[in-house]
Amino acid sequence: MNIVYKKYLLALLVILSSCKVGRSAYKFDLGKVEFDSNTYPIVVIGGGISGLTAGIYGSQANLKTIVLEGKEIGGALSQSHSVRNWPGVEDAPGQEIADKIKTHAINSGAIVVQEVVESVDFSVWPYLIRTKQLTGDQNTKTLKALSCIIAMGATPNTLKIEGEKEYFGKGVSTCAVCDGPLYKDKIVGIIGGGNSAIEEASYLSSIAKKVYIFVRRDKFRAVGKVKDEIISRNNIEVKYNTNIKEIKGNGKKITTLVLFNNKTNESSDLPVDGLFYAIGSKPNSQIFNGQIQLDKQGYIKLKKDQQTSKEGIFAAGDIADPVYKQAIASSGTACVASIQAQHFLDEIGYDPIKYNQPVKQTEKVESEKKPTAEKESKPENKTSSGALVKEILTIEEFKSEVLESKIPVVVDFFATWCIPCQQMLPVFKDVAKTFENKIKFVKLNINKNMEIANELDIYSVPTFMFLKDGKEVKRIIGGMPKDAFIEKTKEILL
Ligand code: NAP
Repeated sequence: MNIVYKKYLLALLVILSSCKVGRSAYKFDLGKVEFDSNTYPIVVIGGGISGLTAGIYGSQANLKTIVLEGKEIGGALSQSHSVRNWPGVEDAPGQEIADKIKTHAINSGAIVVQEVVESVDFSVWPYLIRTKQLTGDQNTKTLKALSCIIAMGATPNTLKIEGEKEYFGKGVSTCAVCDGPLYKDKIVGIIGGGNSAIEEASYLSSIAKKVYIFVRRDKFRAVGKVKDEIISRNNIEVKYNTNIKEIKGNGKKITTLVLFNNKTNESSDLPVDGLFYAIGSKPNSQIFNGQIQLDKQGYIKLKKDQQTSKEGIFAAGDIADPVYKQAIASSGTACVASIQAQHFLDEIGYDPIKYNQPVKQTEKVESEKKPTAEKESKPENKTSSGALVKEILTIEEFKSEVLESKIPVVVDFFATWCIPCQQMLPVFKDVAKTFENKIKFVKLNINKNMEIANELDIYSVPTFMFLKDGKEVKRIIGGMPKDAFIEKTKEILL
């Protein structure tokens, strides 16, 4: 090595070692970033308790933090009827805990928006995250993220057996909290032997006449006193070594399960009204395929401290946790991810004051309260947009407004406890506005009209029923974006 080159190298090393920001500064050059209103130091993808915890930590560190809630507001925890291991809370509905964490995040200054991520590009920096609004005009935009925390959770597994698709929402469900109340005094089955199956059995046994639990081995995966207490209840029966081979029904709802005993190799039919799945879940990581490293099952691979294979991108909660999947672990890993994101931003020289990105404190909000009976029973007349989405309160009203209507009708069967239903109510109003005077839009709270729901074989919420001349022509189970809803309505009723 010649002497001039050696001197040059030495000088470079001195500069580098005296520089606080280290090597990252050369890869992540803030000087080249065009800061605009869509540039965030921290973008959190996912609105479960993991994403919301990251929102709290990010904004409390005075870093402008946006939380993209996605479709599953409140995440998996909000589908839990009774959470008994959240420290300091002996027993509470998951939705209550999730709601308090969301309020805490917003009051800390996090920007929580109802947007889904359509795609990401982690090959450039700032990282690009393309989002779409779930309500309103469904605008799309591209966010520029200096750092990113992925907390998109996992989706329940299904069995992929005969009859499952046909009877999904017609007796087959992955959410006991959402659909359980529709099974009052009925016979239901739960497949699975983990903690979720135990929780669902506990909830459903207080509603249904009889609850079967189908466990594929000769023992539960769940252990402990709570499990023993629950499975010894009078109306719960456990069928061990049992798989489900087929789901049969009468076209409208499920009627029978074909069971297979894997010890005796015998098949048998069992009459049921509903079947709830509790057989684990798979990570929602599809959009990150090819962007960051995933393991064979699709979980995000982590280095130390929630760091993914890309610098400045962290993951937390169930999407990166094939083992523990506990609410408190989701929150805890989000805390680690968020502190690491702060270190990363500090290393690259990011300063919220220099880049004029203060965390704005909005007016304090309160945790959402369940609507009171009085508020619930108040029928809604004209919406602010002028469209009529009347709430049906009695059988007589259902007859006159729906069955005897001169124009086609769409009925939204919803429940106050059901989060997807709450998400769909504003979409339904927007759709109603599009068809004003041509199609009537009404809504019916099944909690207050269980009789009508039973009569019409409603086994899942939200369910949208389309009628012409008082006759049902189609029903759609589950939510959908506004544009798709408008198209479907035109196709079915006009
Ligand atoms: P899980 O613990 O993975 O249990 C899944 C259950 O479904 C197991 O019994 C499994 O049987 C069975 N199963 C899987 N695939 C099946 C198939 N194709 N057919 C029949 N049975 C099948 O899932 P989880 O109950 O959803 O719980 C996930 C995680 O969340 C766990 O770590 C759990 O502790 C946690 N969790 C905690 C709470 C709480 O603390 N409050 C509540 C819910 C969940 P095998 O045992 O034979 O594999």
